[in-house]
Amino acid sequence: MKLLDAIKTYADAKPQAEAFRSLDHSLTYGELWDLSERVASGIQKHTADGSKAPVLVYGHMEPNMIVSFLGSVKAGRPYIPVDVSIPAERIVKIIESSGAELLISVSGDAVDTGSNLIKTVTPEELAADGDADLSRENWVKELDTFYIIYTSGSTGNPKGVQISADNLQSFTDWICRDFPVGEGKTFLNQAPFSFDLSVMDIFPSLQTGGTLHCVTKDKINKPKVLFEELEKSKLNVWTSTPSFVQMCLMDPGFTQELLPQAEVFMFCGEALPAAVAQELLNRFPKARVFNTYGPTETTVAVTSVEITQQIIDEHESLPVGFAKPDMNIFIMDENGNKLPDGEKGEIIIAGPSVSKGYLGEPSLTEKAFFPIDGQWAYHTGDAGYVQDGQIFCQGRLDFQIKLHGYRMELEEIEVHVRQSQYVRTAVVIPYQPNGPVEYLIAAIVPEKHDFEKEFQLTSAIKKELAASLPAYMIPRKFIYQDHIQMTANGKIDRKRIGEEVLV
Ligand code: AMP
Repeated sequence: MKLLDAIKTYADAKPQAEAFRSLDHSLTYGELWDLSERVASGIQKHTADGSKAPVLVYGHMEPNMIVSFLGSVKAGRPYIPVDVSIPAERIVKIIESSGAELLISVSGDAVDTGSNLIKTVTPEELAADGDADLSRENWVKELDTFYIIYTSGSTGNPKGVQISADNLQSFTDWICRDFPVGEGKTFLNQAPFSFDLSVMDIFPSLQTGGTLHCVTKDKINKPKVLFEELEKSKLNVWTSTPSFVQMCLMDPGFTQELLPQAEVFMFCGEALPAAVAQELLNRFPKARVFNTYGPTETTVAVTSVEITQQIIDEHESLPVGFAKPDMNIFIMDENGNKLPDGEKGEIIIAGPSVSKGYLGEPSLTEKAFFPIDGQWAYHTGDAGYVQDGQIFCQGRLDFQIKLHGYRMELEEIEVHVRQSQYVRTAVVIPYQPNGPVEYLIAAIVPEKHDFEKEFQLTSAIKKELAASLPAYMIPRKFIYQDHIQMTANGKIDRKRIGEEVLV
């Protein structure tokens, strides 16, 4: 596989170059290659001959996470990254549904699976038991699964998205070719490895001889420490959710002076607000900003657009961009008909980035994936439209609600609330104690203002909203917060905000 070959080339040519850095750890290309060889060989000794069952890798952002990922795929097995933030009960479900044969505990913590469900080892034990140099014949390749990422399922059980070596190689090649990431750059990794946004920096960084700089969760919760670390990071390529950069932008010190070498900002995972992109362009005059879009099921991201001043000036809501060149993205109505430019429907993604499906879940796979025009396609459940080849994502189809008979999209209301001069960011939550929605609540992080009382601020925002929204779409209740809650993956935590504002 080209990706593994590239890492080997760097390990031979520049063994002392830093491949990975986090907290107080660092790992060179030479160490990464040698250790992962030994872990691969250790995995083979600790598992059944000929089995291709996945390996679960448990930890946070330790260097041995990457060592174990590479060790698994060199041993011919997909890995399942599981962050320490995932509770034991969910890990048990993942083990049961995936048939994983081995759990590598990188953090060193014992995972309480309640019984002898799975053999658990540390990477150090595997490396001690393994000999160097496994034949490359063992590596995962082509349609073999490279990793499995578990995402939440509407049924309450996580579902395992299988990403093949070909899916991943196609994605990594696209990032390295179509984005200005160069060679030997330092990439930021903010997302836990169990979230596929992390794939956007791990593999492009390794394929181009770069250094992956991970900010661990403890740092993310301590802005002062985070900023001290960023200042020392010398990072060039920033990859995160929009929410994470928005949190950083709350601090006036988050500027090009803090990150003088920052050249590229890449976002994925949720809508990038125009105000965030504008602020980045203002504060980082040497950097370029890219919005990308895609579900885990289509390998991280399948659209991109550079957000320039012109794009911001022309669009109230930013586009997610143009399809990755080998992909076919179109809009479908409820009856499966393709829709013309400008018409709104469900975004369908077809082509070589689409996953083969959910591991061990044929009926879920059949519901979400389907063949069309000789390609494999995925129903995203996202509402959107295409205009002149550019894709616009307008939130989830399933965020559509009815309030007193009126049909509306919560995200559409959020876009308008966020445009208020008094609002820094906002989330709109439906109040539905008995089923139907009774009214809407806006949870708002306000801009600095001169109002003495909250009700004065509320009526000023409502007055602005009245100019752009029909009255029935204006939230009734306004709640002010100093930050918007995020999930462990760095996305807006709508569920938690809902629980908090509704008490
Ligand atoms: P995940 O599988 O966790 O990456 O979530 C995928 C979903 O996040 C997509 O189906 C979209 O609903 C949303 N999403 C990802 N990127 C963007 C983006 N750039 N703009 C708007 N929504 C996005």
